[in-house]
Amino acid sequence: MPKQILTDSFGRAITYLRLSVTDRCDLRCTYCMSEAMAFLPKRDVLSLEELERLAVAFIHRGVRKIRLTGGEPLVRRDIMTLLRRLSRRLGDGLDEITLTTNATQLVRYADELADIGVKRINVSLDTLDDAKFAQLTRRRMLGKVLSGIEAAQAAGLKIKLNTVALKGVNEDEIPSLIAWAHQRDIDVTLIEVMPLGEIDEDRVDQYLPLTVMRDALEARWTLEPIALKTGGPARYVRVVETGGVVGFISPLTNNFCADCNRVRVTCTGKIYMCLGHDDHVDLRAALRGPQPDAAAALDAAMVRKPERHDFDISSRGAAPAVARHMSTTGG
Ligand code: SAM
Ligand code: SF4
Repeated sequence: MPKQILTDSFGRAITYLRLSVTDRCDLRCTYCMSEAMAFLPKRDVLSLEELERLAVAFIHRGVRKIRLTGGEPLVRRDIMTLLRRLSRRLGDGLDEITLTTNATQLVRYADELADIGVKRINVSLDTLDDAKFAQLTRRRMLGKVLSGIEAAQAAGLKIKLNTVALKGVNEDEIPSLIAWAHQRDIDVTLIEVMPLGEIDEDRVDQYLPLTVMRDALEARWTLEPIALKTGGPARYVRVVETGGVVGFISPLTNNFCADCNRVRVTCTGKIYMCLGHDDHVDLRAALRGPQPDAAAALDAAMVRKPERHDFDISSRGAAPAVARHMSTTGG
């Protein structure tokens, strides 16, 4: 019998799952977490076995790409066990397993990741300046991150950098960060800061529209738009002078929802159909209930995927669009 592909009420097929495996992290990026972040009790977080069951339920319903995220996915104990198990599905329903990481643990894991079939990863890095990195992440770990990137490249993993554009913090540095990355055959995606979760600062102070960044890049380089369709929110250009690619994720200045092919599951098993909405379905209850039935819960969730997000960052002091942090939902 052909499998029933997960499709939402707007006819979008869901083929991409972002699965958060932990809310914990070894950094405390100021736009993502508050300094005194309260992490979830372990019992609330899905076990590795539950995460695997859930991932397999999604694969059975047509998900072809899984991205592990967090928090920092590589600080979850025994994460390689989950990755190794999921990697057995590659070529058998699953096309790709990947992760988004801050790179601090890559020296330890890069070879193993390549070994199980991970081909490319997203690394988040906002600055190459040691002092700024320490200020932005509240941890002195830039050296570890850079060694992690080197180790990943040496292991043959293709890297894409994710850089959050922050007003007055890294906006002047972004062109040189891009030049640094392109020299190493690393593409860069710039991200506008999104109003997710209470943090210690006001979002309006951090918000830098990417139209401003794009103008700055155009003053230095020739940008050629390219049609890279990922089903995701980014729009891409090639920098003629470097040959590298820059992506722009502008949730606040552009609405990118029409071809959205993804859903997110938190480390507690809540499936969010949209990053910008609070509506969710509790898959953990379905997994831990007397008659576990993840499949039925997935169908219930699909009906509720909204047509679009409605972020607004224009008013100072505004409450976040959604209360949960990116580290809970997974980026
Ligand atoms: N710890 C991993 C990392 O940093 O790559 C994975 C999780 S992190 C939450 C995923 C991505 O979300 C990172 O690229 C981070 O920069 C981004 N992010 C976190 N909070 C954000 C926010 N409020 N607005 C925009 N991007 C955010
Ligand atoms: Fe950790 Fe990633 Fe959030 Fe930074 S963005 S605090 S690395 S989860």
